[in-house]
Amino acid sequence: MLPRSNPRVVIAGGGLAGLACAKLLAEAGLPVTVLESQAYLGGRASTFLDQDGEWVEQGLHLFLGAYSQFRALLRDIGRPPREVLYWTDDLRFETPGGPSALFGTNPLYAPLRTLLGALGNNDYLGPLAKLSLLPLLAPAALPEALLRRFDRLTVVDWWRRASGSQQALERALRPFCRAIQFTDAEQFSAYNLLGWAHQTLIRPLRARLGGYRGARDSQIFAPLAAWLKQRGVEIRTKVALDEIGYDAQTGEITGFKLVGGELLKADVYVIALPAWVFAPKIPTPLRDRPFFADILDLPTAPAISVQLWFDRKVTRRDGFTMVAGSNCPVYQDQSRHTYPYAQGSRISVIVSPADPLMNWDDAAIVAHVRADLGAANPQIAAAKVVKQVVLKHEHHLVRPLPGAMTRRPSQVTPVENLFLAGDWTQQEFFGSQEGAVRGGNACARAVLRAVNRGLWT
Ligand SMILES: Cc1cc2nc3c(=O)[nH]c(=O)nc-3n(C[C@H](O)[C@H](O)[C@H](O)COP(=O)(O)OP(=O)(O)OC[C@H]3O[C@@H](n4cnc5c(N)ncnc54)[C@H](O)[C@@H]3O)c2cc1C
Repeated sequence: MLPRSNPRVVIAGGGLAGLACAKLLAEAGLPVTVLESQAYLGGRASTFLDQDGEWVEQGLHLFLGAYSQFRALLRDIGRPPREVLYWTDDLRFETPGGPSALFGTNPLYAPLRTLLGALGNNDYLGPLAKLSLLPLLAPAALPEALLRRFDRLTVVDWWRRASGSQQALERALRPFCRAIQFTDAEQFSAYNLLGWAHQTLIRPLRARLGGYRGARDSQIFAPLAAWLKQRGVEIRTKVALDEIGYDAQTGEITGFKLVGGELLKADVYVIALPAWVFAPKIPTPLRDRPFFADILDLPTAPAISVQLWFDRKVTRRDGFTMVAGSNCPVYQDQSRHTYPYAQGSRISVIVSPADPLMNWDDAAIVAHVRADLGAANPQIAAAKVVKQVVLKHEHHLVRPLPGAMTRRPSQVTPVENLFLAGDWTQQEFFGSQEGAVRGGNACARAVLRAVNRGLWT
C-alpha cells in the first residue's frame, strides 16, 4: 500500500510488536523512529549477555508451527525460519514421582510417533481420558468469532460442563494453561485455550514446536535492527517514554516527553509498550473514556524464569518437556541446538503460576525447581548446578481471566493520531510472539489506512 503522504511516526517500545510495525511502515516509505528503554531490543522475547558473558533469556520461548506472520517477518529480513529455528514433532510429559509419556504432534512429519503416542501412554492418560479430549475439541473447529463466546467461562467450568475427564484436565490442560499464559485453569478463559486449539486444528500439518538455534538477539533482533536501519528507521535505545502529551481541545496527541526532559514531536504516535506500562501514562482527560478505562482494567500475570547450568547432560531430548502436577510446567535443555558449546545441560524453565513464589529468594526458587524437576527426571536430581539465573517479572502477560481477552483494545484508538501495537491488542494469538507481530502488523496497516484517508496531507 503506497501512502498518500509521509507523516512522521514515533513508536514507543522496541519489542516484536514495535519492530514489526516499524518494518511495515518503513516498507511503505514513512519516516519512523523507535524508542526503546533498554540497551537491547526484543522486550519480553529478548536475550541479553549477563556479567559472565553468557546469553540469558527473559523466558523460555516455544515457536509454534502455526505462527505465520512471524515466519513471514523472518523471511523478509533474510533470516529464513529454517536457519533461525529447529523443529521437533513430539512433546514429552512428565509428573514428579509419576508416569511420563511421549506424544507425537504431527501426522505428516512423525506419523508413527503420533499414532503410537495416541494409542499408547495409557498409564499417563487412560483411554477414556484420551477419548474425552476428542469430541471436546470440536468447539475449537468453530470460527474465531464464535469462539469468543467461550470468554465468559474458565477452562475448568467449560471442562466440567462438557463432562471432560479429570485426568485429562490435570495431565494435559492444566500444564498447558500454566505454560502458555502463566495462569491456572481455574482462572483461564476457555476462549484462550480453544483459540490455541483452533489455530492448530486448522493447520494440522503445522503442529510442530520450534526451538531457537542460538540467542534471539543474534538470530532475530540484531538482523532486524540492521534491516530497519538500512531502510531509514531511526532506533534509539536507552530512551524511555515518560509522558504522553494530549491537547483536550484538538483531541490529539501533541508529543512524547522522554525521561530526561526531551520532547519528541511527530504526526503519528504508536504505543508498543506492555499494557501495564502504558496504563499509568494514559493522559488524564482520556482515562474515563471506556476504550482507555478497559486498558486500565486489564489484569496481568507475573512470571518467573529460571535458567540452570548443570555439570553434565541431564536429558537426551531436543524438544520441550511439559511437567504436570508442578508449577514448573515446561522446560527445555538448550545445550543441544541453542547453545551447543555448553559442556553440560542448560535447562530453561518457566515457574507458573508464579504468584505464590514472587516473594521467595532466588535460592528458595531454585531449590523448588530442582525438587520438582528432579522428582520428574532423576538425572536432574543427580546432577550439580554450576550456575543459575532467576528472573522475576511482576507483570509479564495480560492474564486471560474470563472477559479479559474480548476486552483487549483494537489497534485504532478514539484519538486520531494515537495507535496501539502489542501482544495485548486484539489479534488471534493472544500473548505470544506471533500475537505481538500480528498486533504490530495490524497497527501499521491501521496507520496506513488513516494516511490514505488523507489525515496528514
Ligand atoms: C517468561 C516468558 C515466556 C514466554 N514464552 C513464550 C513462548 O513460549 N512462545 C511465545 O510465542 N511467546 C512467549 N512469550 C510471550 C512473548 O514474549 C510476548 O508476547 C512478546 O514478546 C511481546 O512483544 P511486545 O512487543 O508486544 O511487548 P514487549 O516485548 O514487552 O515490548 C515492549 C518494549 O517496550 C519497552 N519499554 C518498556 N517501557 C518503555 C518506555 N517507558 N519507553 C520506551 N520503551 C519501553 C520494553 O523494554 C520492551 O522492549 C513469553 C513471554 C514471557 C515473559
